[in-house]
Amino acid sequence: MKTLAVSLPGRSYDILIDRGLLGRAGALCRAALPRAGRIFLVTDDRVAPLYLKKAEESLSAAGFETAALVLPAGEEAKCPARLAQLWEAMMEFGLTRTDAVAALGGGVVGDLAGFAAATILRGVDFVQIPTTLLAQVDSSVGGKVAVDLAHGKNLAGAFWQPKLVLMDPETLDTLDDKTFADGMAEVVKYGCIRDAAFFRFLEERPSRAALTAEMEHILYTCCDIKRGVVERDERDTGERMLLNFGHTLGHAYELAGHYETWAHGQAVAAGMCAAARLGVRLGVTPAEAPARLERVLAALGLPTRIDCTAEEYAAAVGLDKKGTGADISVILLEELGRAAPRKMPKAELLAELEGLA
Ligand code: NAD
Repeated sequence: MKTLAVSLPGRSYDILIDRGLLGRAGALCRAALPRAGRIFLVTDDRVAPLYLKKAEESLSAAGFETAALVLPAGEEAKCPARLAQLWEAMMEFGLTRTDAVAALGGGVVGDLAGFAAATILRGVDFVQIPTTLLAQVDSSVGGKVAVDLAHGKNLAGAFWQPKLVLMDPETLDTLDDKTFADGMAEVVKYGCIRDAAFFRFLEERPSRAALTAEMEHILYTCCDIKRGVVERDERDTGERMLLNFGHTLGHAYELAGHYETWAHGQAVAAGMCAAARLGVRLGVTPAEAPARLERVLAALGLPTRIDCTAEEYAAAVGLDKKGTGADISVILLEELGRAAPRKMPKAELLAELEGLA
């Protein structure tokens, strides 16, 4: 088993990574939550038939009383109405301040269950059991929890660190290729921003089978990078912005596709490629970087270019109709393995993006 300790003042926790870990969830939760009698599980209707029974049996064997709410799969569940449903179900179950909430599923379930844990009874302990690649390398680590509002994604939320994160790479075997590739976009991002050797490691494994064989190492490397960034900048006021590499332009592509054509990871993949080309144009990124990045992403079936109008780019960077607005920090690659923010006027960024087309 690989263990990563996340050190935050008064809120430290372990990330545990091992094949078959789900079957040992009970004993591991017992060690991390010695006072808890009950655990309320939150999951969705795709994950429940695959993994809920195993999780419940393991938790019961360790002496926890459990109940579960199974939500419809999909981003729509990450909303205030479902949050309220969750609060009521937890009270119905008799959850007390010494009990805990566990998220079993992808980032949607993790964000919603985490926000419920942060707010019910003014905050109870929380365990993440992420089952998508994106949730394992990204959303389950770092303590950001939220629901979406009609005004936009993740607008009501909190920082609420888990007490334990349990990652079982075996759960990834049931993901469809598209959801797997979606998570891989974030994996590739970590290589780009922080770890040249890891990027080369990914270049040498251009298939899902080759990556799956090394999944523990991949999860550990990504979580270790995110752990370091979060420890130094828990509240997202500085270094944590490096994790947004490819995301601002990715947001433009998500807008362009009305959040339907392109999944988040696909948009981020094309966003990273555009950011790499932009970096070359601005003299920051080495000339060969875009082609290497495109090769890695294309091998995973991810898009490397998405068409986008000037208006969609402008909306994504928050530029008003008069073309004014503050500077924006774009994350650029100084090399494959090192990223840095660069502040520039939004209008200048837009002009450069048009030049890329
Ligand atoms: P998701 O939770 O919707 O999961 C994707 C799909 O995979 C769902 O249909 C789900 O039912 C299914 N699934 C989950 N595990 C499975 C498994 N093992 N086998 C088969 N199917 C499985 O989406 P996601 O990509 O995991 O997460 C996206 C969410 O994460 C978004 O809401 C995003 O805002 C959020 N997010 C949060 C953070 C953060 O820091 N909190 C970071 C990145 C993304």
